[in-house]
Amino acid sequence: MYPRVLVDLKKIDHNAKRMMALCSEYGIEIMAVTKVFSGARPIAEALYKAGIRRLGDSRTENVAKYADLPVEKWLIRMPSASKAEETVRVCDVTLNSEINTLKALNEAALRLGKIHKVILMVDLGDLREGYFEESELAEAVNFVRSCPALELYGLGTNLTCFSFVQPDTEKLSRLHDLAEKYDAAAVISGGNSATIDLMLRGGIPTGVNTLRLGESVLFGKERTNYSYLPDTFRDAFVLEAEIIEVKEKPSMPIGTIGCNSYGERPVFTDHGIRKRVICAVGKQDIDPEIMTPMYENAKIIGASSDHLVVDVTDADGSFEPGGIMRFCLGYFSVMRVFTSSYVEKVYMN
Ligand SMILES: *Cc1c(COP(=O)(O)O)cnc(C)c1O
Repeated sequence: MYPRVLVDLKKIDHNAKRMMALCSEYGIEIMAVTKVFSGARPIAEALYKAGIRRLGDSRTENVAKYADLPVEKWLIRMPSASKAEETVRVCDVTLNSEINTLKALNEAALRLGKIHKVILMVDLGDLREGYFEESELAEAVNFVRSCPALELYGLGTNLTCFSFVQPDTEKLSRLHDLAEKYDAAAVISGGNSATIDLMLRGGIPTGVNTLRLGESVLFGKERTNYSYLPDTFRDAFVLEAEIIEVKEKPSMPIGTIGCNSYGERPVFTDHGIRKRVICAVGKQDIDPEIMTPMYENAKIIGASSDHLVVDVTDADGSFEPGGIMRFCLGYFSVMRVFTSSYVEKVYMN
C-alpha cells in the first residue's frame, strides 16, 4: 500500500555506531532522541542494538513504546504536571524548569516508590526552556535536594531550536561552572545535533559529558552548517508515493492570484510548458521542503494537504499514472510520516 516509508535499520545502525565513535573521542555519551520517529519500537531497538544506552523523547506516549528496552529513558520536554505519575512511571530522567512540576514529580515518585532523576535546564540565550536567572536555578537546586524521591542528576541546556543561537565554548563553560558550583555535574547535557560542529572543533569544555542527539544519529547531519558527517547515510528514510496524474501544463497559473493558506500571495515565474506529476501524499504526511526526489533534475513544486506536485520535465526516469515515485526524507518529513496514520511503515534489514 502507498504511500509507505522504507526505514533502513542497517543504515541507522551504521549512523548510530559512527556517531558513538565520534562522540566518544571527545568524552561525550549519546542520549538518542526518538521523537522524530514517534518512538517506533523497531528503530528504538536498532539504536539499542547499536550500543546506545540512553533513549529519550519529548512525549511520554513515545517513550512508553519502548518501555521494556533496558535503557535509561529520558523525557526531554519539560513534564506536564498533570501527567506527573505517567512520567515517573515511564521515564527515569526528566528535564525540568518549574518547581511546581518538580513537586508533582516528587509526590508521584513517592506514591510509586521510585527515585526520579532530575536535570535542571539552564537557558543560555536561545530563549526556549530553562532557568535564565541563577537565583531561580539555585532555588530549584535546593528544592530538588529537599525532595526525598528526587535525585539531582545534573544540568542541561538547549540551543539552536528556537532562536537558532549557536553553542560556543563560553556558553558551555558557564553550564559546566554552574554544575560544579551546585554539585550537579554527574550529567552535563550540553545540547543537540547543533553542538556537533563545536565538538569537532574541540570546543566543548571537559566535564560536559552528554549530548541529546536526534538528527545527527538518524540522518548523519550536524546542524551548524547543515553539513553531512563523513561516513554516514542520509537516506535511511525513503518515501514511496503513487503517481495519480501526469500532465504537461504551463508553469504560470492562469487568472488572478489570491492568498494561500498562510495569508500570503505567492509569486510564480514562467518556465514555459512543464511536465508535472501529482503524487497521492500531502502536507499531512510530509513536509515538501524537507524531502528530495531520488531522480536527477526532478524538482518539488509544492504541496497541498493531500497532493504533492513534482516537475519531472528534465528528470531521469519514467513517470506514469499508477507508477511510484521515491523521495529521500529529512527531519520534519520523517516526523510527519510517523504521525500520519495514512503512511505505511516498512522496516528493512
Ligand atoms: C529535539 C531535541 C533534541 C534533539 O535535537 P536534534 O537536533 O535532533 O539532535 C535535543 N534536546 C531537546 C530538548 C530537544 O527538544
